[in-house]
Amino acid sequence: MRIAIDGPAGSGKSTLAHALAQRLNLTLLDTGAMYRSVTLACLQKGVDLEDNDAVAQVAREVRIEFMSQDDKTQRVLLDGEDVTAAIRTPQVDAAVPTVSAIPAVREAMVEEQRRIGSAGNVVAEGRDIGTVVFPDAEVKVFLTADMSARAHRRAQQSSIDDPAREQEILDALKKRDEIDSTREAAPLVAAEDAHHLDSSNMTVEQEVEAVVALVEKARAAGGVQAEPPVQNEPAKQESAVPVAKPKSTTAKKKNDDKRTGPMRLFARHEPEEYYEHPVREFPVTSRALLGAAILVCAGISKVLWPWKVENGKTLWKAEGGQVVVMNHVSMLDPVVIMVTEWTHGRRMRPIYKSEFDGHKIVNWFFARIGGIPVERGTADVKAVRRAQRALQRGEDVLIFPEGTRVYSDDQEVEIHAGFALMAQLAKAPVLPVAIVGARDGAPGGNKPLRPGRVWLGVGESITFDQIAEKGRKKQAKAMEKRAMERVYALRDALRAAHPGKM
Ligand code: C5P
Repeated sequence: MRIAIDGPAGSGKSTLAHALAQRLNLTLLDTGAMYRSVTLACLQKGVDLEDNDAVAQVAREVRIEFMSQDDKTQRVLLDGEDVTAAIRTPQVDAAVPTVSAIPAVREAMVEEQRRIGSAGNVVAEGRDIGTVVFPDAEVKVFLTADMSARAHRRAQQSSIDDPAREQEILDALKKRDEIDSTREAAPLVAAEDAHHLDSSNMTVEQEVEAVVALVEKARAAGGVQAEPPVQNEPAKQESAVPVAKPKSTTAKKKNDDKRTGPMRLFARHEPEEYYEHPVREFPVTSRALLGAAILVCAGISKVLWPWKVENGKTLWKAEGGQVVVMNHVSMLDPVVIMVTEWTHGRRMRPIYKSEFDGHKIVNWFFARIGGIPVERGTADVKAVRRAQRALQRGEDVLIFPEGTRVYSDDQEVEIHAGFALMAQLAKAPVLPVAIVGARDGAPGGNKPLRPGRVWLGVGESITFDQIAEKGRKKQAKAMEKRAMERVYALRDALRAAHPGKM
């Protein structure tokens, strides 16, 4: 269930969305807080708000997180710092419409919002939720209130009891509405299929009941229903509300964003949907397939190549997602690491070369085991972003930077650097891992499989704070070098401990 609540500033969207999230157990997505956070980051960094490129760069780089602290508040973290109060100052109020009018900023925010909403069960509030972010939300509400009610509400929220200040608030709200409604990129408009709700004379409880009734209706109907307004059409409003025509179904099909909507059992899902959804939210059939594949691999590999993980805790007990980089000597490598991750309750997304997708079945299967294809030899931004999102959700990402299996130590290898970029964007650590013994066990080519022991050595994770170099590119280069040095040092130490093993 996705509920979209749009409306002008001070119409009570946040209070309503919050109450709905509590009542219906939904994820609350305050998109205004995201635009505010970008604005605050720009103000703090002294970025010129007229410089669209510089502002957009900030929007792409910042990490915005929401934390539910208790029933009442949702804390907002900007690059790990609590900015819940700092994003609600008059300075941010005044600057945010300039920032939110920049198309590239909106692009970055909408992408993130869809990612958050991709699992479904979300109530999102903002200006363009029903028109742009989730145009196929099951319930859309356009919330309004008359101007004086909105200004009064804002004044009360800030404990202001001064008519002159209330007038100032009213003027500021009007100005912000005007900019938000007249900008070119995703202006504040009601979706044609939105239910209008005028909250001027309603209590929060009444608003919640009205929306819950809509939710129940949508559930009963099994989808989106355009209906007459809940309340009378918004009473005399001081700001006119333009109405956006919903995209036609064919247009919607064309724009079909793979990340919107939960994955459903028995639905036909494209591989792209798997790349974008968390593994834990795959349909139960796909998860069962992955579980079965893991168990079969675990059984066979443990019998033929009894393997042991050294220092496994660093791998299994990490706090968030990590980029696991490993040497690649045989087809056993992904098997062993995926099995050990899965059996310790972690989920891992292996990055694999897109050439494999040439086989339909492989493409089908790899999508269902959480794989993400990468086009080698190109800057595959899509793959990097998918990996970044997986890491930010707490999933590990597995990469073999050598790009292909290395059959002998004399083979020339070119290290593919994408992993450092993924880690950098997701602000995730890189974890070096080495495997030894697997090349003897499954030598590849036409050579037969040979039973024998295999060792997996896990190193210590490397974070970007440990890298002295300054500047994004230099840091990524340094990370790439350090991580691979550690992988090979681990491999050499394992070989020394188990002589004769490759
Ligand atoms: O909802 P809130 O008042 O916190 O939003 C702050 C500002 O963020 C709005 O005035 C608007 O400029 C921008 N915004 C937006 N699109 C959204 C949500 C907010 O442009 N979906």
